Order: sequence, then structure tokens, then C-alpha cells
Amino acid sequence: MLSYFLLLWLCLLSSAWLGCGPDSSSSASVEQRNTRSSPSVDTAFYFSLNELLGKFDPAVHPDFARIPAPYATRPDLYLRRKAVEALVRMAKAAQAEGINLRVLSATRSFSHQKDIWERKWYERANSMPDLVLRARSILEYSAMPGTSRHHWGTDVDLNSLRHEDFEAGGPHEKVYKWLCQHAHQFGFCQTYTPLGQNRAFGYREEKWHWSYLPLASPMLEQYVAHVTDSLLTGFAGAQTATSLKIIQHYVLGIDVNCRRRE
Ligand SMILES: [Zn+2]
Repeated sequence: MLSYFLLLWLCLLSSAWLGCGPDSSSSASVEQRNTRSSPSVDTAFYFSLNELLGKFDPAVHPDFARIPAPYATRPDLYLRRKAVEALVRMAKAAQAEGINLRVLSATRSFSHQKDIWERKWYERANSMPDLVLRARSILEYSAMPGTSRHHWGTDVDLNSLRHEDFEAGGPHEKVYKWLCQHAHQFGFCQTYTPLGQNRAFGYREEKWHWSYLPLASPMLEQYVAHVTDSLLTGFAGAQTATSLKIIQHYVLGIDVNCRRRE
């Protein structure tokens, strides 16, 4: 008994410097905590600027997990752990009704998005010399690096990147109908619905893009609070961000029903 109290005392004493408690889980966690602005922040929903901007590697990030094989089209698809769990629950429920959900794309890094963006940027250089018009044309379907929800580890592209595949007579018509009826029960929302009453600005409709709101909603709040145009640098055409109101019209250009936390 004496040795127990001695051990407890030593643990309490050492925790002041070394971390005996549950907070001392990994060096990555320590690194994240060091970037936090205040110790009073709700750590369950704190995301660093690098996480918001996609500047990390999901393959080694402790909060990320691989999407398991039956639901992923490639082995290197990652999401935040809670999003993977919700996605698997949703995919199993769909499977029970004969609907196969397959993830084509999940977390994408800043450098991956930069590759996509700059390929289009230089391809269109001759036909669109006006920089803002060129950026706007790319933004019909592709996000500017640092502004994609795919950076967050909360969003997936499912089954096909062609609208006609989800429409009447298309191979994924039933998939889309099932998602519209049930995805919200698992926390997922179609962020890029048709432009109109529920969405005033932003990308064209994407029937394949679904977002896990329990994590994506707090990420959006923190993104809007902490990211400014001046942080969107390091790629061709970055100077167009302010003219395009990139955060107001594109990052915030999501369906009103996806603004709520589920
Ligand atoms: Zn997408």
C-alpha cells in the first residue's frame, strides 16, 4: 500500500514536467497543442492552421485512418477517424439495401490540390489571359489550394465524377437517391447542390461530394475565423483570391442545409 501511494505521488509530481496523464499520448499531439492559441480552447474541435490548409500528411497524422478496402477504390484514401467510422456505418447500411458506396477521393493535401490547380492554370493560360476569369473558370469544379474541403479529412467523392451517372437511367441513380434519403442520418451532407435558393455562390453542383458535418462544421467555423486571403499563397494565381472573394463565395458557398451541425 505504501509503495502504491509513493508511486501515485511520484506520478503526480512528474506529471508537471513529463506528462503522466492522458494528455501525453504522442509527440504529434504535443506538436498540435503547441500551435493552439489558448489552453482553454475546446480541444475536441481544435484544428491547426496547417490542418485547415491541408499542409500535413494524412498517412502519418494520428487523427486519420485509412478507408477500408471494400469502400475505397484505392489503398491510399484517408479521412479523420470519426469520419471513416461514420462512412463505414453508412456504406454498410447502403449495402444492406443493395447500394454500393465507393470512395473515389477523400483527403487531399495542399500540394495535391496545387498540382490539380496549376495544371489547369497553365493549360488555360493562352485561352484566358485575364487571371481572374481564368481562376473563376477553374473554380467551376476545382478548389483553389488551401480552400478545399478535401483538405479537412471530412469530405469524400463517391462512385463517379459525372453528373449523368447519378441521373435517371444512369448507373448510380439509385446511389444518389439513397444518399439524398439517408446520408443525413450518418452525418453526411451534399455541400454543392445546384446554385439557387439554398446556395447563392460557389462551385457547380457536385452530386458525388459528401461532407461529414459533425467534424466539417466546426472546421468551417475555425477556417472562417482564422484563415485570411494573405495565407493563401504558394501557387500560381494566388493573387486572384481577394478579387474572387474566395472564402466568402467558395469556402462558404455550400448548401444552407450543410451549415447546421448534425
Ligand atoms: Zn469533392
